[in-house]
Amino acid sequence: MFLSHLECTRCGKEHRADSVQTVCLDCAGVLFARYNLDNIAKHLSKQSFQSRVKSMWRYRELLPIKDDSNVITLGEGFTPILQLRKAGKSLSLKNLFMKDDGLVPTGTFKARGMASAISKCVELGIKKVAVATAGNAGAAMSAYAAKAGLESYVYMPKDTPNPIRLECEIYGANVSLVDGSISDAGNMVDQVAKENGWMMLSTMKEPYRVEGKKTMGFEIAEKFDWTLPDVIVYPTGGGTGIVGMWKAFDELERTDLVSGKWPRMVSVQSTTCAPVVKAVQEGKDSCEFWKNPATIAAGLRVPKPFGDYLIIRTITQSNGTAVDVSDEDMVHAMKDIARKEGVWMCPEGAATYACLPKLIESGFLDRDETVLLYNTGSGILYPGLI
Ligand SMILES: *Cc1c(COP(=O)(O)O)cnc(C)c1O
Ligand SMILES: [Zn+2]
Repeated sequence: MFLSHLECTRCGKEHRADSVQTVCLDCAGVLFARYNLDNIAKHLSKQSFQSRVKSMWRYRELLPIKDDSNVITLGEGFTPILQLRKAGKSLSLKNLFMKDDGLVPTGTFKARGMASAISKCVELGIKKVAVATAGNAGAAMSAYAAKAGLESYVYMPKDTPNPIRLECEIYGANVSLVDGSISDAGNMVDQVAKENGWMMLSTMKEPYRVEGKKTMGFEIAEKFDWTLPDVIVYPTGGGTGIVGMWKAFDELERTDLVSGKWPRMVSVQSTTCAPVVKAVQEGKDSCEFWKNPATIAAGLRVPKPFGDYLIIRTITQSNGTAVDVSDEDMVHAMKDIARKEGVWMCPEGAATYACLPKLIESGFLDRDETVLLYNTGSGILYPGLI
């Protein structure tokens, strides 16, 4: 077990990792798990992974659970990276790839974060968990809570796509439907959770979902033979994925598993809910609240991410950028990829493909570069769009 402590990403204050923690006690910043990376470097090499389990738990030393018996897993992670030959050719991109997290349990990459967070809840003796969600985090939490035998409470917008709500219900969660967006759900649940002693697992308001999400970055490195692509395009809502991958690259470098250049990170959002794009364009280091957030891409309907400063820091440090695409372009891209490549991406994932013409036109992308699109979930959860 190499977890050493938790560190505030805003003020740097250290917190203990062996008791229940949410956000920084001093400044309410997001807490990150920190490890004894020097010890891990001595213990791990690229060869270590050859015979390991084909799930995100192959990176066991860099995950925060002390005792294996507390790990709650449904086999999440180690998803394929597919070369998109036809789609790439249509844009004259020579090296276009997609990592397909439509293949994880519950149908979205949210399973990664919840596998890690729920396992840690089991380790800390927590019995009841709750989340404010745009949908998919609720479905994932419900599944892992069911497996772990925890009570779960999900607060989600009442217009969340029906299959996602049904997922929560079949796994036995207590579902509350809220008027408005994930922010309104958050305002409702925070007080109730406090009164009832529920552990809140909302995005970045506890330290361990990011730990599961960072395995996306480990897998990208390993599948590219311990190198990193030039560009990663990521559909950004609350930001755990992009922030998690950036944390992963740092840990891989410090444990000597990768060296060389890190990717430029691109956030893509919907034109009708684009707080990160607006902040990046205006050179701000946090987001303004986006009024009337509306998009078919439920996972991107986040009017003000709690970890906004970490998302923007990642984009800036990586020399990346943020772009928006319309909902219509997402649906068009979804159909185009399905026909060319045989994958039904979720609209969030399809946004990464839809924004490529913009990135090429602006000169951000060079046609020879290795570009990885992150498909965060399966289109089957959004049948109403077709
Ligand atoms: C939550 C979600 C996103 C956004 O992920 P973050 O890491 O929170 O930015 C993207 N796509 C889907 C399908 C999601 O459920
Ligand atoms: Zn702090």
